[in-house]
Amino acid sequence: RAVEHATPERLIEVARAGDVVEPIPREAIGLQAYRAQGGYRLLDECLSGTRDVEDIVATLSDSGLRGLGGAGFPAGRKWSIVRAQPGPRLMTVNGDEGEPGTFKDRFHLERDPHRFLEGALVAAWAVEAERLFIYLRDEYAGVRALLEREVAALKAAGLDQHAPIELRRGAGAYICGEESAMLESIEGKRGLPRHRPPYIAQVGLFGRPTLNHNVETLLWVRDVVEKGPAWFAGLGRRGHAGLRSFSVSGRVREPGVKLAPAGITCRELIDEFCGGMAEGHTLAAYLPGGASGGILPARMADLPLDFGVLEPHKAFVGSHAVVVLSDRDDVRAVALNLVRFFRHESCGQCTPCRSGTQKLEALLDAGRWDLHLLGDLEQVLRDASICGLGQAAANPVASVLNFFPEGRR
Ligand code: SF4
Repeated sequence: RAVEHATPERLIEVARAGDVVEPIPREAIGLQAYRAQGGYRLLDECLSGTRDVEDIVATLSDSGLRGLGGAGFPAGRKWSIVRAQPGPRLMTVNGDEGEPGTFKDRFHLERDPHRFLEGALVAAWAVEAERLFIYLRDEYAGVRALLEREVAALKAAGLDQHAPIELRRGAGAYICGEESAMLESIEGKRGLPRHRPPYIAQVGLFGRPTLNHNVETLLWVRDVVEKGPAWFAGLGRRGHAGLRSFSVSGRVREPGVKLAPAGITCRELIDEFCGGMAEGHTLAAYLPGGASGGILPARMADLPLDFGVLEPHKAFVGSHAVVVLSDRDDVRAVALNLVRFFRHESCGQCTPCRSGTQKLEALLDAGRWDLHLLGDLEQVLRDASICGLGQAAANPVASVLNFFPEGRR
């Protein structure tokens, strides 16, 4: 377990147990301070019957808040779908955050854990979930220790009696960030994605209708309800709703989590939020959505970064992890590295992905690319894989084939 004030003896004891040691983030706003800022007033109003659930669902829908784990499904609609299923229902939070380049959930949890917890408890109230499971990435040892402490405080205050919270710890598998694999993992099984339909809103955790959300989506619930849908919708750019937490890394002067308008372009993000490109580097390409979202050339850096915009280019914004590449980077090597990652993380359940990612890696590793075979394999992965991992594994290759002729040698 992570420890707050680790003595040398305690560190040795924990290290022997094979666990990661990280201090609890000190900047986190605790329960008392959060309540002093009006925190949990919304939850109190919901639980006491002052708030109408239909009003809150309508507010979320009107605000344009979308699922920010990567899929971008409208949050209000998801609540309505789960509410319409027969009870008992359950709720899960996906805090696995395994997409390479993504670190926004950690950033928010380290600073304002109760804003997220209140959003989760309001959502659980809205869908009448009987229990609330929070699945946290195993590598976030400090955040886990923080959540253990703050959830204990919250329980002592009686705030989760309508949906008792259980913290669950991942074990480092990327695939457990896929929602149905995460449910399998919470059930104590190997994290293999499920076939859909049925969708988890219908048959989810332990066979019950389940509302699943990403950490950042829930972080917005309180503010959206208290300040109103127009406030949130108006924060975006070019008609896109809200703010988004971009995890920016790569060749920029100031990488990090940037709270920026939805619909901002990559070029604007670099210039306005990251202090421009790093010294001596010129923008050549960027990954708009971590490892899965493809690679786009600099000439496409003026496209709005939002759901539904990049898909025609076989790219997507996903969890908003923007990795900036420069003229000093080798796009072909980046594509190979990403395919290696998918090959390594494939759960092995279906042949197109298990075998296809191995073949893809071998084809890319060859001195000369067989463009015909690569094109075929890319299509097979996209069409026949069970889950998003296999479907996205070919995105870096498609990007090089489509946009970087110099990389196809
Ligand atoms: Fe597993 Fe890959 Fe098939 Fe997904 S696509 S179920 S990760 S083998």
